[in-house]
Amino acid sequence: QARLLFPLMGLMRVALDLQTSSALFARIFEYLDLKPAISDAAGARPVPTDGALGRVEFDRVSFRYPDADGESRPTLDDVSFTIEPGQFAAFVGPSGAGKTTVSYLVPRLYEASSGEVRFAGDDVRELSQESLMTHIGIVSQETYLFHATIAENLRYARPDATDAELEAAARAANIHETIASFPEGYATVVGERGYRLSGGEKQRIAIARVLLKDPAVLVLDEATSALDTISERVVQEALDDAARGRTTIAIAHRLSTVVAADVIFVIVAGRVVEQGTHAELVGVDGVYASLYRQQEQRPVLETPSVE
Ligand code: ATP
Repeated sequence: QARLLFPLMGLMRVALDLQTSSALFARIFEYLDLKPAISDAAGARPVPTDGALGRVEFDRVSFRYPDADGESRPTLDDVSFTIEPGQFAAFVGPSGAGKTTVSYLVPRLYEASSGEVRFAGDDVRELSQESLMTHIGIVSQETYLFHATIAENLRYARPDATDAELEAAARAANIHETIASFPEGYATVVGERGYRLSGGEKQRIAIARVLLKDPAVLVLDEATSALDTISERVVQEALDDAARGRTTIAIAHRLSTVVAADVIFVIVAGRVVEQGTHAELVGVDGVYASLYRQQEQRPVLETPSVE
């Protein structure tokens, strides 16, 4: 059961990465002969697109993975927070604290065991998954590229995008020059058995996709390593641009991300133990301040997981 969930989550994240049509979504599951763990409630409605679009709220949310031992502590324990439209929120904390799990509950990949997750002011259980997915974009550590041309990979995010729009998104994601340098340019076939792109190039393609999708809420699940300093800076600049003007939820490992955040939530063992800006939290001299001091010796903001 636990093993099955992981590839499934991977596909759910692919679906979020893209402008998912319900047909594509259905095909993914048909292919796997699986059904999404969570389905739409009767009468599920689209996300309301009035003033609260981009607001994300957790109201006393607790969560236990379906396959978790019933005796164990919940993965999220009475978590409450509000992220206002356009804010940049960073989640930090030790490995395994529950940061990524928070990001799974926003698009309702899993359902809260108790409490309420609200998107644009509405309980996510009342919203259709397809609509939620059109308003949430994700840039994660693993980027999935289809065995298809770069142009096609980008158009999955928005099938009607013109060539000029593809190029504008690729420029904003700092990847246009690289693509243009390939002999076949945007017609280069990538993905399995295709042209091998570096980790940083793949990430920038994922960013270009998100820019084309233009979601109200962006989830950034940052890589801890993999990129050298130069590509990291290039990717970071592209991410900063992508985050501008939309709600961004960053599962943060790098200091650069956190220092500029509108709000930082520090999660330890499934609970939000501190929240505030970088300056406020350094002033409090608690968990964040100590992570920050450790980070000055090491380049990531958490204790590495033992695997
Ligand atoms: P990291 O910084 O290492 O990515 P995190 O703070 O993002 O950690 P989560 O990935 O949210 O932590 O994991 C929180 C806890 O939930 C961990 O103990 C993890 O083992 C557990 N967990 C994660 N995914 C599942 C799953 N599909 N089934 C059961 N338990 C899970």
